[in-house]
Amino acid sequence: MSTVDIERIEAQPVNSAKVRQPLYAARKKIFPKRATGSFRRFKWLVMAITLGIYYLTPWLRWDRGPYAPDQAVLVDLANRRFYLFFIEIWPQEFYYVAGLLVMAGIGLFLVTSTVGRAWCGYTCPQTVWVDLFLVVERAIEGDRNARIRLDEGPWTVRKLGLRTVKHAIWVLIAVATGGAWIFYFADAPTLLREVVTGGAAPVAYITVAVLTATTYTFGGLMREQVCTYMCPWPRIQAAMLDEHSLTVTYNDWRGEPRSRHAKKALAAGHSVGDCVDCNACVAVCPMGIDIRDGQQLECITCALCIDACDVVMDKLGRERGLISYSTLSDYSANMAVATAGGTRAIDPGLVRNAAGKLADGIAHFHLAKIFRARTFVYMTIWTLVGLGLLYALISRDRLEVNVLHDRNPQFVVLSDGSIRNGYTVKLLNMIPEPRTIIVTLQGLRGAQMTVTGIDQPEDRSVAILVEPDRLKTLRVFVRQPAEEVAGAAQSFNFVVEDKASFESDVYTATFNAPEPVQ
Ligand code: SF4
Ligand code: SF4
Repeated sequence: MSTVDIERIEAQPVNSAKVRQPLYAARKKIFPKRATGSFRRFKWLVMAITLGIYYLTPWLRWDRGPYAPDQAVLVDLANRRFYLFFIEIWPQEFYYVAGLLVMAGIGLFLVTSTVGRAWCGYTCPQTVWVDLFLVVERAIEGDRNARIRLDEGPWTVRKLGLRTVKHAIWVLIAVATGGAWIFYFADAPTLLREVVTGGAAPVAYITVAVLTATTYTFGGLMREQVCTYMCPWPRIQAAMLDEHSLTVTYNDWRGEPRSRHAKKALAAGHSVGDCVDCNACVAVCPMGIDIRDGQQLECITCALCIDACDVVMDKLGRERGLISYSTLSDYSANMAVATAGGTRAIDPGLVRNAAGKLADGIAHFHLAKIFRARTFVYMTIWTLVGLGLLYALISRDRLEVNVLHDRNPQFVVLSDGSIRNGYTVKLLNMIPEPRTIIVTLQGLRGAQMTVTGIDQPEDRSVAILVEPDRLKTLRVFVRQPAEEVAGAAQSFNFVVEDKASFESDVYTATFNAPEPVQ
């Protein structure tokens, strides 16, 4: 073991295996120390990407021509449309959104079964915003020790000033977060102007106020308590993990017996593991737990304790990975080596060879271990749902017709004996351009139609101009001469066509007439 001195940090976990807290214990404040390392850098990157997407997306423009909004992502509640870049979804096409949610769900199963609670540790909004709030806190109040001193110290002008600035910036972040949300529901530049000048609808201000309050409270004040007490996801995820899922693990098979005074212990003939009980892993943990107590519901697998411990191992000249992403099966195999198959307490001598390196029998992680039948089943289902959605999207109709037959009266006998039926015909032009749609009767011998409000003599065909991205409702009367009537209920088609794009749709309707006299 190296003779390098490792600083021991006074850090108590908020809950430990030795002293379990009662369920309703008062909150112990956590002051996470800044971690450095590859996982921390990865988390910075994920944080920048996710926050960037959230705050900037409403400002992206997408040219859809003069008849549709040019905001790339827009939930247009007033016109009941959802725009996602080149995709426009009408209310009756909401199954696309349902399909995307199904894909997100299956994706979450896939990720959790392979790399554990990666969602919680890296991309969950609660994790990302708490990280952001902690950046502000550290920048203003300092790292862990300075924050603890400030918190425990008396209220002074300096403390009041620092706390005021910190909370003011937190509120600004919360306002920006709530503000960004409403921009997804209206043209962002216009709405920003309205909000600033006081001309926006009350619901916009209420939404910003509610989201400001929740962001500030959850991200700044409650932090880890949201994950531990409010979120159901930790409970659900536990059911998705198996012995081949990666989780952040303290490898006690090489860490125990832990010792703060390894040299003395070795000189006294005691065996010691790699853990020097420096508490660096506890000090950086945003959840305030000690990963050495084993898997815990509170652990969001952010891997910051891995970074902290790797720094310590580097200083000691030991292999990194005393805390690592491991599978339960690897952990169990290594524990069997360290305990000679469970016949004795952990013996560090059993996991190392004569050269002091980890023994050959020690299992190490490699990517192939997490790709197993279950992973491929999730991948296959996810891909099939995705391909199905893509096919439905590419092949969907942008021109539709729906017809409603008048219920009362079912038919009218005119003075010349001919029969007339009334219909409500709905033409859906689902592209952002005006179209002239030809409505034609198909079948129903001798029948002709008139359209209320259209100045055109009775005919079998009529041209209707439909505005871009709109539904047009027509009152249509179909008349059939008495001598052509071929039964009490005849089927025929309303055919709608756009000659310019060659798109068409057909609706099969029924023409009712009196029962023939026997
Ligand atoms: S124990 Fe480690 S991985 Fe778990 S929350 Fe704490 S720092 Fe993150
Ligand atoms: S696991 Fe690593 S960081 Fe944690 S106390 Fe032991 S040596 Fe220190």
